[in-house]
Amino acid sequence: MQSIQAVRGMNDILPDQVRWWQRVENKAREVLERFGYREIRTPVAEKLELFARSIGQSTDIVEKEMYAFQDRNGDMLALRPEATASIVRSYVQHGLQTDSAILKLYQIGPMFRHERPQKGRYRQFHQIDAEVFGTDSPMIDAEMMHMLSLLIEGVGISGIVLNINTLGCPQCRQAYRETLKDFLAAKGDEFCQDCMRRRETNPLRVFDCKVEKCQALLESAPMLIDYVCEDCRAHFDAVKDYLEKLGTRYAVNPRIVRGLDYYMRTTFEVISDRLGSQNAIGGGGRYNGLVRDLGGPDVAAIGFAIGMERLIMLLQQEQQDMERAPGIFIAGLGELPRQRAFLLVQQLRGRGLEAEMDYEGRSLKSQMRRAGKSGAGYVLILGEEELMGRQIQLRDMQAKTQMVLSLDDVVESMLRIASGAI
Ligand code: AMP
Repeated sequence: MQSIQAVRGMNDILPDQVRWWQRVENKAREVLERFGYREIRTPVAEKLELFARSIGQSTDIVEKEMYAFQDRNGDMLALRPEATASIVRSYVQHGLQTDSAILKLYQIGPMFRHERPQKGRYRQFHQIDAEVFGTDSPMIDAEMMHMLSLLIEGVGISGIVLNINTLGCPQCRQAYRETLKDFLAAKGDEFCQDCMRRRETNPLRVFDCKVEKCQALLESAPMLIDYVCEDCRAHFDAVKDYLEKLGTRYAVNPRIVRGLDYYMRTTFEVISDRLGSQNAIGGGGRYNGLVRDLGGPDVAAIGFAIGMERLIMLLQQEQQDMERAPGIFIAGLGELPRQRAFLLVQQLRGRGLEAEMDYEGRSLKSQMRRAGKSGAGYVLILGEEELMGRQIQLRDMQAKTQMVLSLDDVVESMLRIASGAI
Protein backbone atom coordinates (compact mmCIF):
# COMPACT_ATOMS: atom_id res chain seq x y z
CA MET A 1 0.00 0.00 0.00
CA GLN A 2 1.25 3.47 -0.80
CA SER A 3 2.33 5.44 2.25
CA ILE A 4 0.85 8.85 3.04
CA GLN A 5 3.06 11.85 2.34
CA ALA A 6 3.07 15.29 3.95
CA VAL A 7 1.15 18.09 2.21
CA ARG A 8 3.18 19.65 -0.63
CA GLY A 9 5.13 22.67 0.60
CA MET A 10 4.71 21.69 4.27
CA ASN A 11 7.84 20.29 5.83
CA ASP A 12 8.66 18.05 8.74
CA ILE A 13 11.43 19.43 10.90
CA LEU A 14 13.30 16.25 11.69
CA PRO A 15 15.19 15.61 14.93
CA ASP A 16 18.62 16.30 13.40
CA GLN A 17 17.35 19.69 12.23
CA VAL A 18 15.54 20.75 15.37
CA ARG A 19 18.67 21.93 17.15
CA TRP A 20 19.08 24.69 14.58
CA TRP A 21 15.51 25.81 15.17
CA GLN A 22 15.93 25.79 18.91
CA ARG A 23 19.10 27.79 18.64
CA VAL A 24 17.42 30.46 16.48
CA GLU A 25 14.36 30.58 18.72
CA ASN A 26 16.43 30.87 21.88
CA LYS A 27 18.53 33.66 20.45
CA ALA A 28 15.46 35.49 19.17
CA ARG A 29 13.72 35.30 22.54
CA GLU A 30 16.83 36.48 24.33
CA VAL A 31 17.25 39.52 22.07
CA LEU A 32 13.53 40.41 21.96
CA GLU A 33 13.11 40.22 25.71
CA ARG A 34 16.23 42.33 26.24
CA PHE A 35 14.53 45.01 24.13
CA GLY A 36 11.33 44.80 26.20
CA TYR A 37 9.14 42.58 23.97
CA ARG A 38 6.65 40.16 25.54
CA GLU A 39 5.43 37.00 23.89
CA ILE A 40 1.87 36.60 22.59
CA ARG A 41 0.42 33.45 21.00
CA THR A 42 -2.59 33.82 18.76
CA PRO A 43 -4.54 31.00 17.01
CA VAL A 44 -3.36 29.75 13.59
CA ALA A 45 -6.89 30.23 12.16
CA GLU A 46 -8.82 33.50 12.09
CA LYS A 47 -11.93 34.83 10.37
CA LEU A 48 -11.09 35.27 6.71
CA GLU A 49 -12.38 38.83 6.84
CA LEU A 50 -9.55 39.85 9.18
CA PHE A 51 -6.93 39.26 6.51
CA ALA A 52 -9.01 40.63 3.66
CA ARG A 53 -9.54 43.87 5.57
CA SER A 54 -6.01 44.34 6.84
CA ILE A 55 -3.64 42.95 4.21
CA GLY A 56 -5.83 44.23 1.38
CA GLN A 57 -8.21 42.60 -1.14
CA SER A 58 -5.96 43.18 -4.12
CA THR A 59 -2.72 41.84 -2.69
CA ASP A 60 -1.16 38.57 -3.85
CA ILE A 61 -1.66 37.05 -0.42
CA VAL A 62 -5.41 37.66 -0.24
CA GLU A 63 -6.10 37.20 -3.93
CA LYS A 64 -4.41 33.89 -4.50
CA GLU A 65 -2.43 32.53 -1.58
CA MET A 66 -4.87 32.22 1.28
CA TYR A 67 -5.71 28.88 2.88
CA ALA A 68 -9.37 29.80 3.21
CA PHE A 69 -12.11 27.35 4.08
CA GLN A 70 -15.58 27.08 5.45
CA ASP A 71 -15.81 25.35 8.81
CA ARG A 72 -18.72 23.19 9.88
CA ASN A 73 -20.73 26.18 11.06
CA GLY A 74 -20.44 27.79 7.67
CA ASP A 75 -18.00 30.48 8.94
CA MET A 76 -15.30 31.51 6.49
CA LEU A 77 -11.92 31.00 8.15
CA ALA A 78 -8.32 31.21 6.98
CA LEU A 79 -5.02 29.86 8.19
CA ARG A 80 -2.97 32.94 9.05
CA PRO A 81 -0.66 34.05 6.22
CA GLU A 82 1.20 36.42 8.55
CA ALA A 83 1.08 37.45 12.20
CA THR A 84 0.46 41.21 12.30
CA ALA A 85 -3.29 41.09 11.56
CA SER A 86 -3.85 38.46 14.26
CA ILE A 87 -1.84 40.39 16.83
CA VAL A 88 -3.73 43.61 16.04
CA ARG A 89 -7.02 41.72 16.32
CA SER A 90 -5.99 40.39 19.71
CA TYR A 91 -4.71 43.82 20.81
CA VAL A 92 -8.08 45.39 19.97
CA GLN A 93 -10.21 42.53 21.30
CA HIS A 94 -8.52 42.47 24.71
CA GLY A 95 -7.98 46.21 25.00
CA LEU A 96 -4.25 45.75 25.45
CA GLN A 97 -3.60 49.45 24.92
CA THR A 98 -2.69 51.47 27.99
CA ASP A 99 -2.76 55.26 28.21
CA SER A 100 0.88 55.88 28.80
CA ALA A 101 3.03 52.93 27.94
CA ILE A 102 3.91 51.58 24.56
CA LEU A 103 3.44 47.86 24.09
CA LYS A 104 6.05 45.61 22.49
CA LEU A 105 4.90 42.10 21.49
CA TYR A 106 6.42 39.15 19.70
CA GLN A 107 5.18 35.87 18.29
CA ILE A 108 6.99 32.83 16.88
CA GLY A 109 5.11 30.27 14.85
CA PRO A 110 3.89 28.79 11.56
CA MET A 111 2.26 30.84 8.77
CA PHE A 112 0.46 29.51 5.67
CA ARG A 113 0.46 30.74 2.10
CA HIS A 114 -0.54 28.73 -0.95
CA GLU A 115 2.47 29.73 -3.04
CA ARG A 116 4.36 27.67 -5.60
CA PRO A 117 6.88 25.78 -3.47
CA GLN A 118 10.57 26.21 -4.27
CA LYS A 119 13.81 26.57 -2.33
CA GLY A 120 13.14 29.09 0.45
CA ARG A 121 9.42 29.28 -0.32
CA TYR A 122 6.96 26.92 1.32
CA ARG A 123 3.26 26.66 2.05
CA GLN A 124 3.80 26.30 5.75
CA PHE A 125 6.71 28.39 6.95
CA HIS A 126 7.69 29.95 10.25
CA GLN A 127 8.17 33.53 11.31
CA ILE A 128 9.59 35.44 14.21
CA ASP A 129 7.34 38.44 14.41
CA ALA A 130 7.72 41.65 16.46
CA GLU A 131 5.26 44.54 16.84
CA VAL A 132 5.29 47.84 18.75
CA PHE A 133 2.07 49.73 19.53
CA GLY A 134 1.65 53.26 20.76
CA THR A 135 4.36 55.46 19.29
CA ASP A 136 5.11 57.22 16.06
CA SER A 137 8.60 58.16 17.21
CA PRO A 138 11.27 57.57 14.55
CA MET A 139 13.40 56.30 17.45
CA ILE A 140 11.31 53.11 17.49
CA ASP A 141 11.69 52.61 13.73
CA ALA A 142 15.45 52.83 14.12
CA GLU A 143 15.55 50.74 17.30
CA MET A 144 13.52 48.01 15.60
CA MET A 145 15.81 47.79 12.58
CA HIS A 146 18.83 47.92 14.86
CA MET A 147 17.38 45.02 16.87
CA LEU A 148 16.53 43.09 13.68
CA SER A 149 20.14 43.36 12.51
CA LEU A 150 21.44 42.38 15.96
CA LEU A 151 19.13 39.39 16.06
CA ILE A 152 20.16 38.09 12.64
CA GLU A 153 23.85 38.67 13.30
CA GLY A 154 23.49 37.28 16.83
CA VAL A 155 22.25 34.00 15.41
CA GLY A 156 25.53 33.79 13.48
CA ILE A 157 24.72 35.21 10.04
CA SER A 158 26.91 37.77 8.34
CA GLY A 159 26.78 39.60 5.03
CA ILE A 160 23.22 40.90 5.30
CA VAL A 161 21.97 44.20 3.92
CA LEU A 162 19.22 46.29 5.50
CA ASN A 163 17.21 48.04 2.79
CA ILE A 164 14.95 50.87 3.87
CA ASN A 165 12.35 53.06 2.21
CA THR A 166 9.44 55.31 3.02
CA LEU A 167 5.95 54.81 1.63
CA GLY A 168 4.71 58.19 2.86
CA CYS A 169 1.28 58.58 4.44
CA PRO A 170 -2.11 57.94 2.77
CA GLN A 171 -2.27 61.62 1.79
CA CYS A 172 1.04 61.89 -0.02
CA ARG A 173 0.60 58.41 -1.46
CA GLN A 174 -2.68 59.45 -3.07
CA ALA A 175 -0.93 62.16 -5.10
CA TYR A 176 1.80 59.72 -6.09
CA ARG A 177 -0.72 57.04 -7.13
CA GLU A 178 -2.07 59.37 -9.79
CA THR A 179 1.43 60.10 -11.12
CA LEU A 180 2.24 56.39 -11.19
CA LYS A 181 -1.07 55.56 -12.87
CA ASP A 182 -0.27 58.07 -15.63
CA PHE A 183 3.16 56.51 -16.10
CA LEU A 184 1.69 52.99 -16.29
CA ALA A 185 -1.07 54.06 -18.66
CA ALA A 186 1.50 55.63 -20.98
CA LYS A 187 3.18 52.21 -21.34
CA GLY A 188 0.04 50.78 -22.94
CA ASP A 189 -0.11 46.98 -22.76
CA GLU A 190 3.59 46.30 -22.38
CA PHE A 191 3.15 45.02 -18.82
CA CYS A 192 2.14 41.45 -17.89
CA GLN A 193 -1.53 40.57 -17.32
CA ASP A 194 -1.16 40.78 -13.52
CA CYS A 195 0.39 44.24 -13.72
CA MET A 196 -2.31 45.46 -16.10
CA ARG A 197 -4.85 44.44 -13.50
CA ARG A 198 -2.83 45.94 -10.63
CA ARG A 199 -2.58 49.15 -12.61
CA GLU A 200 -6.32 49.62 -12.11
CA THR A 201 -6.86 48.16 -8.65
CA ASN A 202 -3.68 48.88 -6.73
CA PRO A 203 -0.95 50.42 -8.89
CA LEU A 204 1.79 50.34 -6.23
CA ARG A 205 1.71 46.55 -6.32
CA VAL A 206 3.35 46.56 -9.77
CA PHE A 207 6.66 46.92 -7.93
CA ASP A 208 6.10 43.46 -6.41
CA CYS A 209 6.01 41.88 -9.87
CA LYS A 210 8.76 39.31 -10.43
CA VAL A 211 8.47 39.35 -14.24
CA GLU A 212 11.72 40.66 -15.71
CA LYS A 213 10.04 42.60 -18.50
CA CYS A 214 7.91 44.49 -15.97
CA GLN A 215 10.89 45.19 -13.74
CA ALA A 216 12.75 46.64 -16.73
CA LEU A 217 9.77 48.85 -17.64
CA LEU A 218 9.69 50.12 -14.06
CA GLU A 219 13.30 51.31 -14.23
CA SER A 220 12.11 54.74 -15.31
CA ALA A 221 8.99 54.83 -13.13
CA PRO A 222 8.45 57.76 -10.76
CA MET A 223 9.45 56.79 -7.24
CA LEU A 224 7.27 57.37 -4.20
CA ILE A 225 10.25 58.45 -2.13
CA ASP A 226 10.50 61.58 -4.32
CA TYR A 227 6.84 62.49 -3.69
CA VAL A 228 6.43 62.19 0.09
CA CYS A 229 5.19 65.18 2.11
CA GLU A 230 7.32 67.23 4.45
CA ASP A 231 6.27 65.41 7.64
CA CYS A 232 6.97 62.01 6.12
CA ARG A 233 10.32 63.18 4.83
CA ALA A 234 11.29 64.56 8.25
CA HIS A 235 10.30 61.23 9.84
CA PHE A 236 12.41 59.30 7.34
CA ASP A 237 15.41 61.62 7.81
CA ALA A 238 15.18 61.16 11.58
CA VAL A 239 15.04 57.36 11.21
CA LYS A 240 18.17 57.40 9.04
CA ASP A 241 19.91 59.70 11.49
CA TYR A 242 19.18 57.39 14.44
CA LEU A 243 20.33 54.36 12.46
CA GLU A 244 23.62 56.10 11.79
CA LYS A 245 23.99 57.01 15.45
CA LEU A 246 23.38 53.37 16.37
CA GLY A 247 25.97 52.23 13.84
CA THR A 248 23.39 50.14 11.96
CA ARG A 249 24.33 49.97 8.29
CA TYR A 250 21.53 50.42 5.76
CA ALA A 251 20.88 51.23 2.13
CA VAL A 252 17.96 53.33 0.90
CA ASN A 253 16.07 51.28 -1.68
CA PRO A 254 13.05 53.11 -3.18
CA ARG A 255 11.72 49.81 -4.55
CA ILE A 256 10.83 48.30 -1.20
CA VAL A 257 7.03 48.61 -1.35
CA ARG A 258 6.19 45.39 0.56
CA GLY A 259 3.34 43.12 -0.45
CA LEU A 260 0.72 44.28 2.04
CA ASP A 261 -1.57 47.29 1.94
CA TYR A 262 -1.38 48.43 5.53
CA TYR A 263 2.17 49.74 5.43
CA MET A 264 2.98 53.46 5.47
CA ARG A 265 6.11 55.56 6.09
CA THR A 266 9.11 53.42 7.07
CA THR A 267 9.38 50.04 5.35
CA PHE A 268 12.39 47.77 5.37
CA GLU A 269 13.75 44.42 4.27
CA VAL A 270 16.82 42.42 5.20
CA ILE A 271 18.37 40.77 2.18
CA SER A 272 21.13 38.20 1.75
CA ASP A 273 22.89 37.57 -1.54
CA ARG A 274 23.37 33.91 -0.59
CA LEU A 275 19.73 32.87 -0.83
CA GLY A 276 19.13 32.82 -4.59
CA SER A 277 15.86 34.25 -5.86
CA GLN A 278 14.07 34.14 -2.48
CA ASN A 279 16.58 36.55 -0.98
CA ALA A 280 14.58 38.33 1.75
CA ILE A 281 15.21 37.07 5.27
CA GLY A 282 12.78 39.46 6.88
CA GLY A 283 10.92 42.70 6.48
CA GLY A 284 8.43 45.04 8.00
CA GLY A 285 7.26 48.59 8.38
CA ARG A 286 4.90 51.08 9.97
CA TYR A 287 1.16 50.58 9.88
CA ASN A 288 -0.27 53.53 11.80
CA GLY A 289 -3.84 53.30 10.48
CA LEU A 290 -4.42 49.57 10.88
CA VAL A 291 -5.42 49.35 14.55
CA ARG A 292 -8.10 52.01 13.98
CA ASP A 293 -9.26 50.31 10.77
CA LEU A 294 -9.75 47.08 12.68
CA GLY A 295 -11.97 48.79 15.23
CA GLY A 296 -9.36 49.80 17.80
CA PRO A 297 -8.02 53.13 19.02
CA ASP A 298 -5.99 55.35 16.73
CA VAL A 299 -2.53 54.19 17.80
CA ALA A 300 0.63 54.20 15.75
CA ALA A 301 2.32 50.84 15.22
CA ILE A 302 5.27 49.20 13.51
CA GLY A 303 6.43 45.61 13.09
CA PHE A 304 8.57 43.07 11.27
CA ALA A 305 8.71 39.37 10.49
CA ILE A 306 11.73 37.14 9.92
CA GLY A 307 11.42 33.94 7.88
CA MET A 308 12.94 31.17 9.97
CA GLU A 309 13.48 28.66 7.13
CA ARG A 310 15.63 31.15 5.25
CA LEU A 311 17.50 32.16 8.38
CA ILE A 312 18.32 28.53 9.11
CA MET A 313 19.33 27.85 5.50
CA LEU A 314 21.89 30.64 5.77
CA LEU A 315 23.06 29.49 9.14
CA GLN A 316 23.66 25.99 7.83
CA GLN A 317 25.62 27.33 4.88
CA GLU A 318 27.86 29.29 7.20
CA GLN A 319 28.31 26.74 9.94
CA GLN A 320 28.47 23.22 8.63
CA ASP A 321 28.58 21.59 12.01
CA MET A 322 26.85 22.71 15.10
CA GLU A 323 28.55 21.70 18.30
CA ARG A 324 26.57 19.32 20.37
CA ALA A 325 26.61 19.45 24.14
CA PRO A 326 28.82 16.63 25.36
CA GLY A 327 26.48 13.80 26.33
CA ILE A 328 27.32 10.65 28.22
CA PHE A 329 26.68 7.15 26.94
CA ILE A 330 26.79 4.21 29.32
CA ALA A 331 27.76 0.82 27.98
CA GLY A 332 26.75 -1.97 30.36
CA LEU A 333 28.20 -5.41 29.58
CA GLY A 334 26.27 -8.30 31.09
CA GLU A 335 23.00 -8.46 32.98
CA LEU A 336 24.03 -7.01 36.37
CA PRO A 337 26.17 -4.19 34.93
CA ARG A 338 23.30 -3.30 32.62
CA GLN A 339 20.91 -3.04 35.57
CA ARG A 340 23.41 -0.82 37.39
CA ALA A 341 23.83 1.25 34.20
CA PHE A 342 20.06 1.73 34.09
CA LEU A 343 20.10 3.30 37.56
CA LEU A 344 23.21 5.32 36.77
CA VAL A 345 21.74 6.83 33.62
CA GLN A 346 18.72 8.05 35.60
CA GLN A 347 20.98 9.45 38.34
CA LEU A 348 23.06 11.39 35.79
CA ARG A 349 19.91 12.78 34.16
CA GLY A 350 18.55 13.65 37.60
CA ARG A 351 21.61 15.83 38.15
CA GLY A 352 21.06 17.66 34.86
CA LEU A 353 23.43 15.73 32.58
CA GLU A 354 22.46 14.43 29.16
CA ALA A 355 22.85 10.66 29.32
CA GLU A 356 21.83 7.62 27.29
CA MET A 357 22.43 3.87 27.44
CA ASP A 358 21.91 0.67 25.50
CA TYR A 359 18.76 -1.10 26.68
CA GLU A 360 19.20 -4.17 24.51
CA GLY A 361 22.32 -5.86 25.87
CA ARG A 362 24.42 -5.59 22.70
CA SER A 363 28.14 -6.25 22.36
CA LEU A 364 30.70 -3.64 23.45
CA LYS A 365 31.62 -3.03 19.82
CA SER A 366 28.07 -2.28 18.77
CA GLN A 367 27.46 -0.12 21.84
CA MET A 368 30.61 1.91 21.12
CA ARG A 369 29.42 2.39 17.55
CA ARG A 370 26.09 3.65 18.77
CA ALA A 371 27.76 5.98 21.27
CA GLY A 372 29.92 7.40 18.48
CA LYS A 373 26.90 7.97 16.25
CA SER A 374 24.92 9.66 19.01
CA GLY A 375 27.68 12.26 19.29
CA ALA A 376 28.33 11.46 22.95
CA GLY A 377 31.38 13.19 24.37
CA TYR A 378 31.98 10.51 26.99
CA VAL A 379 31.33 6.79 27.30
CA LEU A 380 31.17 5.06 30.66
CA ILE A 381 31.95 1.34 30.36
CA LEU A 382 30.74 -1.01 33.06
CA GLY A 383 31.53 -4.75 32.86
CA GLU A 384 31.23 -7.57 35.44
CA GLU A 385 34.82 -7.05 36.55
CA GLU A 386 34.43 -3.29 37.06
CA LEU A 387 31.21 -3.82 38.97
CA MET A 388 32.87 -6.25 41.37
CA GLY A 389 35.76 -3.84 41.91
CA ARG A 390 33.31 -0.86 42.29
CA GLN A 391 34.95 0.86 39.36
CA ILE A 392 33.91 2.17 35.96
CA GLN A 393 35.90 3.05 32.83
CA LEU A 394 35.55 6.51 31.33
CA ARG A 395 36.41 7.10 27.70
CA ASP A 396 36.78 10.68 26.45
CA MET A 397 35.58 10.36 22.84
CA GLN A 398 37.29 13.50 21.63
CA ALA A 399 40.66 13.15 23.36
CA LYS A 400 40.49 9.36 22.81
CA THR A 401 41.80 8.74 26.32
CA GLN A 402 40.55 6.35 28.95
CA MET A 403 40.66 6.40 32.75
CA VAL A 404 39.19 4.51 35.69
CA LEU A 405 36.72 6.17 38.07
CA SER A 406 35.24 4.97 41.33
CA LEU A 407 31.73 3.66 40.74
CA ASP A 408 30.56 5.01 44.09
CA ASP A 409 31.04 8.63 43.19
CA VAL A 410 30.91 8.50 39.41
CA VAL A 411 27.99 10.96 39.32
CA GLU A 412 29.98 13.61 41.19
CA SER A 413 33.01 12.95 38.97
CA MET A 414 30.95 13.34 35.80
CA LEU A 415 29.45 16.57 37.10
CA ARG A 416 32.95 17.94 37.67
CA ILE A 417 34.13 16.77 34.23
CA ALA A 418 31.07 18.18 32.45
CA SER A 419 31.51 21.56 34.12
CA GLY A 420 35.11 21.64 32.92
CA ALA A 421 36.57 21.34 36.42
CA ILE A 422 38.80 18.42 35.36
P1 AMP B 1 6.69 39.05 4.19
O1 AMP B 1 5.91 39.72 5.27
O2 AMP B 1 5.88 38.40 3.15
O3 AMP B 1 7.77 39.92 3.64
O4 AMP B 1 7.44 37.86 4.94
C1 AMP B 1 8.48 38.09 5.85
C2 AMP B 1 9.52 37.02 5.71
O5 AMP B 1 8.91 35.74 5.86
C3 AMP B 1 10.17 36.97 4.35
O6 AMP B 1 11.25 37.85 4.29
C4 AMP B 1 10.61 35.54 4.26
O7 AMP B 1 11.85 35.34 4.93
C5 AMP B 1 9.54 34.80 5.00
N1 AMP B 1 8.55 34.21 4.07
C6 AMP B 1 7.49 34.80 3.50
N2 AMP B 1 6.81 33.93 2.72
C7 AMP B 1 7.47 32.75 2.80
C8 AMP B 1 7.25 31.45 2.25
N3 AMP B 1 6.22 31.17 1.45
N4 AMP B 1 8.15 30.47 2.56
C9 AMP B 1 9.19 30.72 3.37
N5 AMP B 1 9.43 31.91 3.95
C10 AMP B 1 8.58 32.92 3.67
